[in-house]
Amino acid sequence: MTNSNPHEHNHGHDHDHDHDHDHHPINADHEPESDDRYLEQALRELLDEKGVVTATQIAQQIDIQDSRTPALGAKVVAKAWTDPVFKQALLAKPLETINRTFDLTINTPLELVVLENTPELHNMVVCTLCSCYPRMLLGIPPAWYKSTEYRSRVVVDPRAVLEEFGTKIPSSTEIRVADSTADVRYLVLPLRPNGTALMTEAQLEALVTRDAMIGTAVPSVEAT
Ligand code: FE
Repeated sequence: MTNSNPHEHNHGHDHDHDHDHDHHPINADHEPESDDRYLEQALRELLDEKGVVTATQIAQQIDIQDSRTPALGAKVVAKAWTDPVFKQALLAKPLETINRTFDLTINTPLELVVLENTPELHNMVVCTLCSCYPRMLLGIPPAWYKSTEYRSRVVVDPRAVLEEFGTKIPSSTEIRVADSTADVRYLVLPLRPNGTALMTEAQLEALVTRDAMIGTAVPSVEAT
């Protein structure tokens, strides 16, 4: 039983075979293309073979990257809300202060800048060139952060972009967009919401979302 007429088969759009598509939705998280995978593997093996980095070092680095999640950023923000001395130190020397306070060894040539929101000023972060992001505190950026839509529109009309995120900033509050560079990463220190005076640091941590530290959201008691 041979298939003598291949034209009868597989001529239509078979949605089980998404690898046939040469494009994908802008906002979807997706696996890297296989060419990238091959390149990554070849480079990794070459670096190992030439003694530049070892497989163990690469594995350790992956573990470190995986340990960075927005929970770490939330800890930093909640402490800044409750400890004025820490907050001043954080604004003056962010990474040094975070390493010392939380017994971490975040080791990067990048500069971290903490942008403090006030009732008069709302900060938000973008990388207009690519996708630079404070990974040392927030981990992997969300897909929308890397999208052309966000990167191009947030600098033109930040207030409209915020509204699309469901975030209303009073018209009397200035909105400032910080554009990341190759050397600098920004973390937004959001305003502590009203109605949290009696909360513990751990309770406050739970209010601090990833988006609040990018500046596309504001923490609130109602949201949780
Ligand atoms: Fe970038």
